[in-house]
Amino acid sequence: MTDVAIVGGGLAGLVAARHAADRGLDAVVFERRETVGGRVRSREVDGYTLDRGFQVLFTGYPAARRELDFDRLDLRAFSPGATIARPAHRSTLADPFRAPGTLVESALNTDVSLKDKLLVLRLRRALVGEDPETLFDGPDESIREYLRRWGFSERFVENFAAPFYGGITLDRSLSTDAGVFRYTFAMLSRGKTVVPADGMGAIPAQLAARAREAGATIESGTAVTGIAAEGAGDGAVTVETDGETVTADAAVVATDPATARELTGVEAIRTEARSCVTQYLAMGERSLDTGKRIILNADDERPNTVAPLSTVAPEYAPDGRTLLSATTLGTPEASDEALFTAVRDALVTWYPEHRFDDVELLATDRIEFAQFDQPVGFRDRLPGVDAPEGPVYLAGDYTRWSAIQGAMESGRVAAEAVASDLS
Ligand SMILES: Cc1cc2nc3c(=O)[nH]c(=O)nc-3n(C[C@H](O)[C@H](O)[C@H](O)COP(=O)(O)OP(=O)(O)OC[C@H]3O[C@@H](n4cnc5c(N)ncnc54)[C@H](O)[C@@H]3O)c2cc1C
Repeated sequence: MTDVAIVGGGLAGLVAARHAADRGLDAVVFERRETVGGRVRSREVDGYTLDRGFQVLFTGYPAARRELDFDRLDLRAFSPGATIARPAHRSTLADPFRAPGTLVESALNTDVSLKDKLLVLRLRRALVGEDPETLFDGPDESIREYLRRWGFSERFVENFAAPFYGGITLDRSLSTDAGVFRYTFAMLSRGKTVVPADGMGAIPAQLAARAREAGATIESGTAVTGIAAEGAGDGAVTVETDGETVTADAAVVATDPATARELTGVEAIRTEARSCVTQYLAMGERSLDTGKRIILNADDERPNTVAPLSTVAPEYAPDGRTLLSATTLGTPEASDEALFTAVRDALVTWYPEHRFDDVELLATDRIEFAQFDQPVGFRDRLPGVDAPEGPVYLAGDYTRWSAIQGAMESGRVAAEAVASDLS
């Protein structure tokens, strides 16, 4: 009999497997797809590395520091800050502590006021030293309300916060709980924003290797169709897959939220989606003067952001070629071609000195479920790790918050709960 059956080989399931195996448990991961990683994965198209949507790792995440060997991931860092773009206008907003060379440019930036810049520094002082666990605590308010309460101008909110934090939360209206802002702001200040040289898929690949080294087994291409505590025998659980029935002492459900809710019946699991469309653009070698900074669309939502991927990580594109990704939030009905045209038009208006005739569309990822919705107060209604009946435990970002940090932390917490209950 297996000690613990883990359903789902995303970040949460892989971390749970490693920690369970580290505690001496016989752990088996069942992953529906042929590859692990869930929402974090990469593929190769014509020599370009395409992540599933625009995703980055914050090296400040405590769980990432604990679970990953950063050196072996060969990380490539974005420059702090962003380029704010609108037709025939671009400006740089950088972090003066970490990119001193841009101090003058940032100081002259008129897209945000001097008061805003000073407030950013004050906010940084207030949040950067805080215990990460307490960053979610605070009054019930949205990101927009929080920024207003701090005194940020509408200009700052619309030109910078809406596209930047809207890009992180996939919600340009900034209705997401302010705790998500505080956490990500602190992480941006504490560490770097990076991608592995081989693509974001290198993160789950490393987690899977570490889980196997610890003794866990990963059965990919195996979907779990049901979990039942009744009839499995004393204190046990049966896990039904396409081909077999496995009996285990415990099961950890680390799937996407909708499947977790279906498998366990736990109603507190939030399944409302935040969505986006990411398009990958290739062109000849060209340096847009944003360097390694992302470009924010201050004027319009299409696209919300453009990321200079191959400038940050040259390995993402063949020699002599440039790879950009452009992300539009939500579930736009426009065709791939129409969205691509909107992106190219935006680039042309932001960079009138460049021609973009050679830009080609490599791929379009329409991601219906990227994150679960995190409205004000969502943390008070999250399901507990032991919410299901019987020896069934929950892991997955939906038990904490929708991010790499939330997913990885949930895996550790679930494995510890299983190990403690079984001992
Ligand atoms: C486009 C996009 C951008 C993002 N940007 C960022 C970012 O920049 N920074 C950040 O921190 N976070 C980001 N996130 C969020 C982050 O990727 C997720 O929070 C995290 O990956 C969730 O991991 P998970 O293990 O909880 O769930 P998932 O990744 O959803 O993993 C669940 C796994 O369960 C498997 N599964 C489902 N059903 C079954 C079944 N019946 N049987 C077996 N297996 C099953 C799935 O195939 C999947 O592998 C982004 C997400 C997306 C999609």
